Amino acid sequence: MFESLSNKLSGVFDGLRARGALSEADVTEALREVRLALLDSDVALPVVRDFVTKVRERAIGSEVLGSVTPGQQVVKIVNDVMIEQLGGEGAVPINLNAPAPIPILMVGLQGSGKTTTSGKIALRLKDRLRRRVLLASLDTQRPAAQLQLAQLAEQAGVPSLPIVAGQTPVQIANRAMDVGRREGFDVVILDTAGRLSINQELMDEVRQVRAATNPAETLLVVDAMTGQDAVNTAKAFNDALQITGVVLTRMDGDARGGAALSMRAVTGAPIKLVGVGEKQDALEDFHPERVAGRILGMGDIVGLVEKASETIDHAEAEKLAAKMLKGKFDLEDYAAQLRQITKMGSLSGMLEMLPGLGKMKQQINDANLDTTMFKRQAAIISSMTIKERRTPDIIKASRKKRIAAGSGTTVQDVNRLLKQFDDMSAVIKKMGKLGQKGLMRHGLS
Ligand code: GDP
Repeated sequence: MFESLSNKLSGVFDGLRARGALSEADVTEALREVRLALLDSDVALPVVRDFVTKVRERAIGSEVLGSVTPGQQVVKIVNDVMIEQLGGEGAVPINLNAPAPIPILMVGLQGSGKTTTSGKIALRLKDRLRRRVLLASLDTQRPAAQLQLAQLAEQAGVPSLPIVAGQTPVQIANRAMDVGRREGFDVVILDTAGRLSINQELMDEVRQVRAATNPAETLLVVDAMTGQDAVNTAKAFNDALQITGVVLTRMDGDARGGAALSMRAVTGAPIKLVGVGEKQDALEDFHPERVAGRILGMGDIVGLVEKASETIDHAEAEKLAAKMLKGKFDLEDYAAQLRQITKMGSLSGMLEMLPGLGKMKQQINDANLDTTMFKRQAAIISSMTIKERRTPDIIKASRKKRIAAGSGTTVQDVNRLLKQFDDMSAVIKKMGKLGQKGLMRHGLS
C-alpha cells in the first residue's frame, strides 16, 4: 500500500532537501512532480488541485523560502497538508455514545468486505471494549450472506440473530433491536444487503432500516483496490445516506492509495477503520498522521512499537534479555526469538513502518528474504536434538546432514544458520560483558 506513491514522493523530497536555497520556481517544479505522483495514485483530481494549492500558498507566502532549511520546511508543509487531507490528527473511534442497544448500520456494495468487516468490528468491540454485541444480517436477497454472517459471528464468539425466512430487512432490523433490548446487548450490528452497483432500491431499503433503528453510526465499507470507483461509490452513498464513517478494506493489497487520500475531502466523513487482511483480527484504526508518515517515507514508528508490544511476549523477552546479559544464548533462545519475529508479521510490512526503509521493501521481496527465511530457520532448529540446540559446537557433518533432511532443507542452509548464530553469539557475548561491567560500575553486582 502507498508504495509507489511513497517512492515517488521521497524522490521529490530528497531533491528538495539536497538544495541549500529554494526559489519559487524550485517549489513549483517540485509541486508539479507531487501533483503527477498523486494523480498516478488515483487521487481524485479536485483533491489533488486543492492539495497542491494549499502547499504552494503556505510555502511561498511565508518565511519558508528564506529559512535555513527550506527543503525540510516544504516537506513539513506537505506532511501537514496531507494529515489534514486524511482527516486531521488522531484516529476517530466508533461512536458508542448512545443508549444500549446501540445500532451500527453497515452499508456498501456487494463484495466490498461488508460482512467480513461486521464480524471484525464485533470481535474488536467484544475483546477490546468488553461490549456484548449481536450481529444481524439484513440480506434477504442472498440467504448465503446470512449464513456467512452467522459463521463469522461464531468465529468471533459473538451471537447472531437467528434467521427467519420471509422477513423484510426492516422487520429483521426491528427484531434485532428487540432481542438487543430484551437480552441486554450493548451493540447491535446491522449488516445490510449489498448490490453490485448503486441503485435506488438499495438506497431506499437502507433508508427505511435507518429510519426504523436510528443508528449511532452508518458505516460505509469500500474496497480500497477499486481506486477512483471507491471514491465515486462513497460520494453516492454519502449523498443518499449521510454516512458517519468509512471503513477502507483491502488496504493490505497493492492499492495505490488514492481512495484513502480522497475519501475525507469527497464525503466529509472520517475513515475510521481499515481492513488489512481476511482474518478477523485484520482491522486497524486509521491514524491520519501515521498514514501520512508512511506515504511520505517518514515511517510509522508509533505503529511499529504498538504492534511489537501487542505481539511480543514480555515475560519471554525479559527472560531472554537476562540470559543475554549473562552472555548465555543458545539455539533454543534463537528459536524463541524467531517465533516472536514471525508473529509480528511480514518483514517487508514492518520495514514500511520505518523511516526511509520503505524503499528497501522491493529489495527484500527480490531477495525472498521475508518471514519464509525465519520459518525455515525455525524448522532447522526444531530438527535438532535438545543437546545440539544447547551446544551447537557438536553439530558436525553427519549431524548437519540429518538436520537438513529432517527439516526439508540443505546442508548449506544449516551452515548458514549456524554461521549467523555464531556471529550473533559473538555480539551478544560482548554485550553481556559490557552489561556486567555497567552493573558493577553502579555497584549493583
Ligand atoms: P460483502 O459482500 O461486502 O459482505 O463482502 P465479504 O465480506 O463477503 O468480502 C468479500 C471478500 O473480501 C471475502 O473473501 C473477504 O475475505 C475479503 N476481504 C474482506 N476484507 C478484506 C481485507 O481487508 N483484506 C483482504 N485481503 N480481503 C478482504
